[in-house]
Amino acid sequence: MMIDLPINSPLEEIFNPLFKLKEIELFIKRDDMIHPFISGNKWRKLKYILQEAVALQKQHLVTFGGAHSNHLLATACAAAKFGFSSTGIVRGEPVDSPTIFLSKLFGMQLIFEDRESYLDKNGLFKKHFINNPNAYFIDEGGSGSLGAKGCSELIDELPEVFDHIFCAAGTGTTAAGILSGISSKSLNSKMHVVPVLKGADFLKQDIENLVKGLFFEFHSAYHFGGYAKTNDELLRFIKDFTNSTGILIDPVYTGKLLFAIYDLISKDYFARGSRILMVHTGGTTGILGMADRFKL
Ligand SMILES: *Cc1c(COP(=O)(O)O)cnc(C)c1O
Repeated sequence: MMIDLPINSPLEEIFNPLFKLKEIELFIKRDDMIHPFISGNKWRKLKYILQEAVALQKQHLVTFGGAHSNHLLATACAAAKFGFSSTGIVRGEPVDSPTIFLSKLFGMQLIFEDRESYLDKNGLFKKHFINNPNAYFIDEGGSGSLGAKGCSELIDELPEVFDHIFCAAGTGTTAAGILSGISSKSLNSKMHVVPVLKGADFLKQDIENLVKGLFFEFHSAYHFGGYAKTNDELLRFIKDFTNSTGILIDPVYTGKLLFAIYDLISKDYFARGSRILMVHTGGTTGILGMADRFKL
């Protein structure tokens, strides 16, 4: 079977009195619309990974993630769609979450491993699959150069050159891919990366290792205390944005990213007339596991 999905990811302009005042235009690349569950950057990252699995005649996908991992769910759904079986190795105690539920529904077998064992992914793969020649290892988050290659294709879809392109970073693979897409087309767009975790210096280094010498801005002040940490200001921002646009953003990735963009606009970071693109990396199922944080 050919491993591909039609890319439905339109550009959508966001209107806001602040943008008008600052003479800024903001567009969102709606990668969240690519697929409800093989969503956003997770599809882009899986595309060449799954094609390699097919080329190597592997039939069983094995990957890793936390109980709210968008990558786990994307892999479970993609496995079902493209005719693989799959196992997800999940960090921590057995728990339920909407992501876990849906991953199981798509047929993924789940193995929960304590946080210490989870650190050694290659060891876990060996432990569970040493006797299974069909098993194919996919790193947590679909990270790595095949993942980045898929993400670089986003740039080919843009009908115009934006002054600034923003994306959120967990492993940095998506940012690295987009950056190499900008570079290979020699575009004048400046890449901005917003890490969603605290102490993300290693992440900056990981991106630099993938893109070798390309320049990007790294905005490390928008992690809100760490990965999946939130506060009332962020939750209020997400609620206001979502109910004024009909576009869902989540507290882990795209909410922090968009908060950063609004904050930079309000602080006159951008020249007047700038056209900014935010990459909506999808993953909106994750917010269902965080409903209790919102006081609605
Ligand atoms: C996984 C994920 C990211 C992080 O992507 P990386 O390539 O790991 O940096 C960003 N946004 C969303 C919505 C995600 O699910």
